[in-house]
Order: sequence, then C-alpha cells, then structure tokens
Amino acid sequence: MRKKIIFGLKPCDTIGIKSLDLVFGEGERKDPYYLQRRSGSILISIGCHLIFPDCFCMAVGGNPFNFDYSDLGLIDMDDYFAVLKKSENTKVEEFLKEYKEFFEEKNFDEETENRIKEIISRSGEKCNLNWEKINADETSITMDKSFKDEKTWRKITQKCISCAACTYVCPTCVCFSIGDELKDLSGERYKCWDFCTNYYYTLEASGHNPRSEIYQRYRNKINCKYNYFYKRNKNLYCVGCGRCVDVCPVGMDIREIVGTFLKDK
Ligand code: SF4
Ligand code: SF4
Repeated sequence: MRKKIIFGLKPCDTIGIKSLDLVFGEGERKDPYYLQRRSGSILISIGCHLIFPDCFCMAVGGNPFNFDYSDLGLIDMDDYFAVLKKSENTKVEEFLKEYKEFFEEKNFDEETENRIKEIISRSGEKCNLNWEKINADETSITMDKSFKDEKTWRKITQKCISCAACTYVCPTCVCFSIGDELKDLSGERYKCWDFCTNYYYTLEASGHNPRSEIYQRYRNKINCKYNYFYKRNKNLYCVGCGRCVDVCPVGMDIREIVGTFLKDK
C-alpha cells in the first residue's frame, strides 16, 4: 500500500473527506481505487486560528478545531505545533515511529493550556459571526418546498456563468464522468471529476437535457449539498469552507442562496 501524508488540511477539509468516504467508500458500489488511496492516507490537520469572512463551518455543524476526522489534529503555537488529537490506530502509531524526530513528548503547562483554550474560543466566536447556525433538518425540508419556486431560483442564480470554479475548490463535490479513449490499438476507460453546473453533464445522447438551464443546474447543486445527501445519510455536503464564495467571479454566495429560502420558510 502506497503511503500518503496529507499535512496542513483544515478541519473542514477532513469533514469533506468524510463526505467522499460516504460516497466512494460505503454501500454496494465501493470504489476500490479510492479506497486503496484512502486507506494509505494519514490526515494531519491544523485548527484554524485565522478566520476569514467567508468561513462558516460552525453554521453547518463544524468548528475550526473539529478534529473528529483527522488522524492528527494540531494547533499552531507560532514556533511549534501542539498535537491536540491523535487517533489510536496502527497507521498513526507507525507514522509517529517513522517520523519520531519531529515529535517531542511534553505535558502542557497551565499557561499553554490557557493559551490553547483562548485561541479555540476566539476562533469559534469569529466564525460564528459569518453565518448563524442552520438547522439541517429544517433546511432540507425548506429546500424541498422551494424546488418549484422557479421565479426565485431564476432570480438568485442569474449571475452564474457555469464556470465551475466553485466545484473545483469544493472539498465535497463528487460528480464525475466516465470516458473512453483510443490508446494506440486499444482503448482506455477513465474516470474524471466533473461538475453538475456544466450543461454537458446532464446532456443525454438523444439531445435532451433535463437541466438545460442554469437555474436548474445550480438548484441541483444546492439541493445536493443541503438536501439530497443529508436525507440519504444525515450528513450535509457543505462543510462551510467558504472557498466557493471566495473564488466565484460573479460574487455568488451560497449562504445568501440558501438564506433566501430559509428566511421565507
Ligand atoms: S463559481 Fe460562481 S459563476 Fe462559476 S459556476 Fe460557481 S456559482 Fe457559477
Ligand atoms: S462552502 Fe462552498 S466550497 Fe465549501 S463545502 Fe460548501 S459548497 Fe463546497
């Protein structure tokens, strides 16, 4: 098994990986290639002490120091990292043994403990300001109710240019395509990342496209994150990383889109 160390993930990224695990690693159709890479990976995350205006993990049930899905969870103490979470499993034990020169066993003194508590609480307070906590059950029901509100969906998505930037930065977007390519005298089948706001993603061989308009595609994306996956496994598919808000060239903000319907519920 090829080992992979993923260092410096944000806690929301690790929750994103949990979402990928639920799609590719559970159920009847597990993806063996994904599972192979995943089982050899160690996730080392660093809690967020810098909270940007677009970060909203707390609104969707996370927090800037949520290490539930990290093998090791660290906090940046300026001149060193302190380990706040260590998973008890062979993979982590072997990793710590192999890289022991990077670690030093030490108990936190009272001053350090207080500093850690203060960093964590300050981050939480700042993050809380970026979007108030949503109720996932209620949001899922609201999304169902709003589905046929074409007028509002058209209005709030009219700026979107289907560029896919929001997909390529999202830690939970899982849509993919399968393609066949000629390679010398044989062929190769490959799987590649795709995006559901892409017109061609749902274009059928007959020429019919069930989501021919942008509002339909964007509505599907939002429902995927705040409704469909939640119904299936009680896990929101938005971890509040805010990257889609940050990169969107036309200023679409997922909080405003979902919030439009939540405020009318
Ligand atoms: S980044 Fe913005 S414009 Fe591009 S597809 Fe996403 S929402 Fe639409
Ligand atoms: S904030 Fe945007 S990029 Fe981040 S998980 Fe949610 S939908 Fe994806």
